[in-house]
Amino acid sequence: MENCLFCKIAAGQIPSSKVYEDEQVLAFRDIAPQAPVHVLVIPKKHVSGWYDAQEENDALLAKLMRTASAVAKMEGIVDSGFRVVSNCGADAQQTVKHLHLHVLGGRAMAGEMA
Ligand code: AMP
Repeated sequence: MENCLFCKIAAGQIPSSKVYEDEQVLAFRDIAPQAPVHVLVIPKKHVSGWYDAQEENDALLAKLMRTASAVAKMEGIVDSGFRVVSNCGADAQQTVKHLHLHVLGGRAMAGEMA
């Protein structure tokens, strides 16, 4: 999608610190990390958010979750634990309107989620 930051990253038009990539998904380090490990997992195809995901995207959504787990393994945070977050809409502070998961770990998270 034109003027979408994550579409441009997925297309390689904007550089990213890549952690994993295949035909459907890309995982890259967040530019402003909030934990020692902070990786974003995105579908290469533009999906605005969870509310925008159609049934035809079900396999892709499952793939995103599985990739988040794979990233946690690659980053060595499976045993210590990790958090997967996805902000959706204004109240959740979603700033980039391209569906993404935050994989956070490498330190103990706050006990409260919000
Ligand atoms: P959200 O606020 O949930 O929409 O998450 C968007 C995330 O994208 C934020 O954590 C930003 O720090 C991150 N971000 C913004 N621009 C870039 C970029 N060029 N490369 C990597 N991460 C980015």
